[in-house]
Amino acid sequence: MAKEPMLKFVDIQRDMPSKRTAEERKKDFHEIYAEFAAAKATEQASRCSQCGVPYCQAHCPLSNNIPDWLRLTATGRLAEAYEISQATNTFPEICGRICPQDRLCEGNCVIEQSGHGTVTIGAVEKYITDTAWEKGWVKPVSPITERTESVGIIGAGPGGLAAADMLRRAGIQVTVYDRYDRAGGLLTYGIPGFKLEKDVVMRRNQLLADGGVTFVMNCNVGDDISFDEIRAKHDAVIIATGVYKSRDLEIPNSSAKGIVRALDFLTASNRKSFGDAVEEHDNGTLSAEGKRVVVIGGGDTAMDCLRTSIREGAVSVKCLYRRDKANMPGSQREVKNAEEEGVHFEWLSAPKGFTEADGKVAGVMVQKMRLGAPDASGRQAPEVIEGADYIEDADLVIQALGFEPEDLPKLWGVDGLEVTRWGTVKAQFTTGATALDGVYAVGDIVRGASLVVWAIRDGRDCAQAIIDRLAAPAAVAAE
Ligand SMILES: Cc1cc2nc3c(=O)[nH]c(=O)nc-3n(C[C@H](O)[C@H](O)[C@H](O)COP(=O)(O)OP(=O)(O)OC[C@H]3O[C@@H](n4cnc5c(N)ncnc54)[C@H](O)[C@@H]3O)c2cc1C
Ligand code: SF4
Repeated sequence: MAKEPMLKFVDIQRDMPSKRTAEERKKDFHEIYAEFAAAKATEQASRCSQCGVPYCQAHCPLSNNIPDWLRLTATGRLAEAYEISQATNTFPEICGRICPQDRLCEGNCVIEQSGHGTVTIGAVEKYITDTAWEKGWVKPVSPITERTESVGIIGAGPGGLAAADMLRRAGIQVTVYDRYDRAGGLLTYGIPGFKLEKDVVMRRNQLLADGGVTFVMNCNVGDDISFDEIRAKHDAVIIATGVYKSRDLEIPNSSAKGIVRALDFLTASNRKSFGDAVEEHDNGTLSAEGKRVVVIGGGDTAMDCLRTSIREGAVSVKCLYRRDKANMPGSQREVKNAEEEGVHFEWLSAPKGFTEADGKVAGVMVQKMRLGAPDASGRQAPEVIEGADYIEDADLVIQALGFEPEDLPKLWGVDGLEVTRWGTVKAQFTTGATALDGVYAVGDIVRGASLVVWAIRDGRDCAQAIIDRLAAPAAVAAE
């Protein structure tokens, strides 16, 4: 006789009254999920001790008033929690999803510090604003008065969009120029959808458009319109173009077919998720499906490539990083996620060259490393272990070695736009003002590859500086 199963799982959908439509069943599921999310957020928010020394707030780049919105969430006052949360953050539900909280707010929560596990601040922030969207509390900007001054923003990433939002709130006319077809910058085409759902970004873009921001898309500044033309059209210009020049390996056979750049791979995957036709993905060049994938690099972009490869159906996914786990630049949380999903990490391993077969990459020649004396940056420098080389078989190699700024003064033919020795635009820290009058810069193009939350902070600060300047032109002229 067949044995009875030990546990009887209850199928909630099946055990509910029959003859329900698919829509009704879906609704049941959403209700159940919403109740679960609400209970979880309340439970977490209640764990905040209201310690009075809000290290979490001090370590949030936006100085979010975390203890207050946690207290309000714990007591079910979500509309007020949302008001407080959105007062300092242009995209709270986005930060809640993708900030590296372990290095920011949550890593500095006193409950975490005392060994009891952090309050999941990011998850609560996401919950508050997702609820606000659901309830219809998130409304387009509607300024009390419209002003005649206008600001041109080059780049529709989080830095440019945060500035656009603040400027519109002050009634200033805003035009955003971007070379892509969709706004959002790396929120749209860099960060994978499993970390940040694309509809969450698109509804924000729509909200800005509904609030009066004019978007000029498919417009590559420097090609389709000159920087000087944009400057002549507007009272102020914000450069928010991010950093996109990939650092590439220059080792034997590095131009073999099958060796691709991280952002090309991620952009193709993101475009597919929008339903776009992407020839290089469809013909296999930028697809991981059925391949042995090796990702080179140890930052968050590398983690995104690894986890995307798993989702695309790679046969095996390996990460090569020249230092050890403790010294990698990416978030430990992301490494854990990748490991749990089946990624294999080869620590202390650096590529020396590639092998080819039939005109395509066939493997990575790997050198084993050990950590030696600290270098100028204070980090232990990797040294080669002689005689320990081996070949790692690969059909697709993704280079994720970081990004550098494009040479904007040269690309745009702008005299007087000062850059640092790293090529980032020189701008005042608190206002984004550059050496050119009326020209500002924010986000990664100023900081180098950084974080979404810092780009938002820069965009907001810069918008405030422009609002102050436009309100007091005489004072500025006299400076
Ligand atoms: C793969 C990846 C994953 C990441 N994951 C995270 C994460 O999980 N959490 C996090 O906090 N940060 C993450 N980051 C970093 C984060 O995305 C950036 O710090 C942030 O997007 C920078 O914002 P930005 O507005 O300065 O620039 P971007 O988001 O890069 O936007 C710049 C915009 O400018 C446009 N542009 C550039 N040049 C021109 C031109 N000449 N003419 C017109 N338009 C132009 C581009 O098309 C783009 O839309 C990640 C980065 C990458 C690459
Ligand atoms: S914006 Fe980022 S750092 Fe600040 S509270 Fe939210 S998740 Fe934490």
